[in-house]
Amino acid sequence: MSVSRPHLEPGRLFIDGEWREAGAKGVRDITDPSTGKVVTTVAEADASDVDAAVAAARKAFDEGPWSQTPGRERARILHRAADLIRKRADELVAVESVNVGKPVSLARAVDVSTAAEEYEYYSAMAQSVDGSSRQIPIPSHAYTRREPLGVVAAITPFNFPLILSSSKLAPALAAGNTVVHKPAEETPLSALLMAEILAEAGVPDGVLNVVTGGGAVVGEALLTHPGVDKIAFTGSTAIGRHAAATAGAALKPVTMELGGNAANIVFEDADLEKAIGAIIKGFVFNTGQFCMGGPRLLVHSSLHDTVLGILEGAVPGVPLGDPFDPATVIGPMAGLRHLEKVEEYVAIAKAEGGRIVTGGERLELDGGYYYKPTVIAGLGNDSRAVQEEIFGPVLTVQPFDTEDEAIALANSTPYGLASGLQTRDLARAHRVAARLQAGIVWVNDWAMLDPAIPFGGVKNSGFGREYGPEALESYTKVKSVVISLA
Ligand code: NAD
Repeated sequence: MSVSRPHLEPGRLFIDGEWREAGAKGVRDITDPSTGKVVTTVAEADASDVDAAVAAARKAFDEGPWSQTPGRERARILHRAADLIRKRADELVAVESVNVGKPVSLARAVDVSTAAEEYEYYSAMAQSVDGSSRQIPIPSHAYTRREPLGVVAAITPFNFPLILSSSKLAPALAAGNTVVHKPAEETPLSALLMAEILAEAGVPDGVLNVVTGGGAVVGEALLTHPGVDKIAFTGSTAIGRHAAATAGAALKPVTMELGGNAANIVFEDADLEKAIGAIIKGFVFNTGQFCMGGPRLLVHSSLHDTVLGILEGAVPGVPLGDPFDPATVIGPMAGLRHLEKVEEYVAIAKAEGGRIVTGGERLELDGGYYYKPTVIAGLGNDSRAVQEEIFGPVLTVQPFDTEDEAIALANSTPYGLASGLQTRDLARAHRVAARLQAGIVWVNDWAMLDPAIPFGGVKNSGFGREYGPEALESYTKVKSVVISLA
């Protein structure tokens, strides 16, 4: 089904169930990355707006019904939200595509449908936020309660705005918390539409508040606000380090979903056709702006030249262009700064002796921020283009000879978010998966994700998990109650 570019009204803040201008009347331009043109504006909040949003969330938690609402009723509301996401899918697809440059087919099949599944999954879980009874050797009735934490500050990045905000809001709300959401400054439009959808579903005033604006002002005000009980952060390792330190000083719980630079290992016994599919998906999906992408290809030396030859032939054929064309698979980068960062890393790779197998330049189209999917061979493992997170449609390719060498190369960067391997050998699959330093390992495919499967990082990729019961638990605290029966 095709979707057209939407007509957009200026975006406002959503605080205590009301749409408001920013207190200081600031606004920010929002750009369509496929044209480079401004398509609307959104309110640019400051610390006083954050104060108002936290006060509304605080009041809704301390006095409002949400945390006391039976889980079954919260479940009904969250399920209604999932239904509304599906019903209003065209609007969400259009908004996410025009704001992030996502191909409409990807936005529909992945972003919007995953967001609906996230609300469905945690709606079911809202009904079982349970404690347990404990036996102790004195006459007593002892049990635990799982209670919501309070006000959650959800800070999210630019690349999967809808999915990554829903992966925080759905479990946080299911557990009975209230939320102040700060989306990325350049891609806030779906967060504003979701505020409308959640209110329509029946989420009471003040339970969800959305404050748009810059990280240094709005994000910082949330990190340091005494009225916030938990920081749920997804973004870069550099900002995450600062956010974790700030929250640590205030002894606040945090989850940190940070950068990645995953390796995809192709062993000599891999099903090559499947492996090529996983390799291409791993580095072009979401135009490479994917924390769990696979930008480092490690390929057994017996297959190295064959795989490079196949990629040289296949990669230029992946449809790249207007995100509103249903046939498009790769859209533009989400912003000029992201495009320029990719250009900088490709220049670094060339200076480090890398050979461009395909791509390596912009695609000039409609003034958009397009970059051709790029494969680079011949780099050493200490190359910056191998070790650092490029966050664009760029694949580096390195050969290896032994299983131990492949594992050592895969584990050699500071990151540990995702990893993967392509092999027909079942024993090897388990053996290698156990030794890879990553929060998730895929075998014989890439990016198999579902709200039931936890993901998150180790090392510089952060800590804590999204998805699964693990995420729900991270939005609760345990209280023990012991009643004397003597
Ligand atoms: P970013 O760190 O620049 O920004 C993330 C969020 O933090 C934004 O909302 C931003 O406004 C806010 N922010 C910036 N400065 C802040 C401050 N001083 N205080 C509080 N908040 C502040 O990240 P980005 O460029 O939007 O996203 C890309 C990065 O996110 C990549 O490194 C990517 O790997 C990572 N990411 C990780 C995951 C994951 O699940 N681990 C998922 C998606 C993206």
